[in-house]
Amino acid sequence: MWFALTLILIAAIATLHFRWRAKFRSLQGQRAAEIENARRHQQQTNVDAKAQQQVLFNSMIEGLLLLDRTQKIYLANRSFKNLFGLKTELRGRTVLEALRLHELDELVRRVQVEGQVFDYEFKLPGLSENWLRVNAAVISNSAGEREGTILVFHDLTRLKQLERTREDFVANVSHELRTPLSLIKGYVETLLDGARNNPEVAERFLKIIDRNTQRLDLLIQDLLTISALESGRMKLNLQPVELPSLAAKVLADLHAMADNKNVSLINVLPDLTAVADANRLDQVFANLVDNAIKYGKANGSVTVGGQKLAGGRLEIFVQDDGPGIPAESLDRVFERFYRVDKARSRDQGGTGLGLSIVKHIVHAHGGEVRVASELGKGSTFYFTLPEKPAQPPADLRTGA
Ligand code: ADP
Repeated sequence: MWFALTLILIAAIATLHFRWRAKFRSLQGQRAAEIENARRHQQQTNVDAKAQQQVLFNSMIEGLLLLDRTQKIYLANRSFKNLFGLKTELRGRTVLEALRLHELDELVRRVQVEGQVFDYEFKLPGLSENWLRVNAAVISNSAGEREGTILVFHDLTRLKQLERTREDFVANVSHELRTPLSLIKGYVETLLDGARNNPEVAERFLKIIDRNTQRLDLLIQDLLTISALESGRMKLNLQPVELPSLAAKVLADLHAMADNKNVSLINVLPDLTAVADANRLDQVFANLVDNAIKYGKANGSVTVGGQKLAGGRLEIFVQDDGPGIPAESLDRVFERFYRVDKARSRDQGGTGLGLSIVKHIVHAHGGEVRVASELGKGSTFYFTLPEKPAQPPADLRTGA
């Protein structure tokens, strides 16, 4: 009896033991799977973080260069490679090996000594003017040990160009203002010194003063127009404008000027309607026709015409049969203060801003300007404007 009972107990304990072992094994298996999952997750997280970092670095506008503690390149982002025109792998190379720029190599050394260098500007070697600004610093860990160096590069080229344009503009404006002003001052002084006592001389001098005062006035008006156009302060009052009648008005205004040179003004503009600011467009026509008369030949002709282009655009032209514009000046005549013949333009009362104003106004309307010219044969200035969309048929408009 006791024997049987003992056997039953042992069997029960053994069963329990095997069940526990099986359960333990399955638990152990679960743990291992969990650990494996966690490891995979961690790995994935690391890969994701790296990929995210890469995306982040490559989406930066600034060029980024990370050097390890031995000053070898650890990472160079896409903008950095673009700035320096590099396509090859840079990892593991020194700055000098990768870029062959002693100035930058010197900078890396300086950063090691000073800890950081901010706003270091330098020009990339080469024909084109490419300027960069670098901010650089050593990277240290929490124990204060140096881990590497970070360099951030900003492209300054556009900023430098704007700076130069601004400086040139100020220099040009000062020069343009000073010329008529010093003439006025000189003639006023001569008059005060006694020339006023000779009526003939006095009248001649006063006419010169009057002409130069007008020139100053014109220049200031043009400068204000350019400044308003460039700052975007000038709002366009867009309306349907019938081009033939607008051109006819401008030609009528300039008739006396054309008559003085015996120039015929011809308007062959077909029936075109643009969406434009009538006052600004008047200025475009006036500047182009004024130039065509001014720089065209005596006894010649000036023609205004145009046509429809594809894509809802109109092209207008102003043509003269004057001496034309040399090929090397064609791209430049729309620049502020650019003149083919400085003395001639000034003698004719030009401010050097007319075509620049034309370009700004046309661009503000979403159009383009260009000039075609052949020496000895004449010049044709073209500009485009958006066409007034055709009216839908009446039944569509009323919804009938
Ligand atoms: P400006 O006040 O000197 O006329 P613009 O900007 O109107 O200034 O023109 C720039 C230069 O382009 C002029 O100085 C002139 O040399 C040249 N130019 C403009 N229109 C013509 C033309 N129809 N024929 C020849 N040269 C022209």
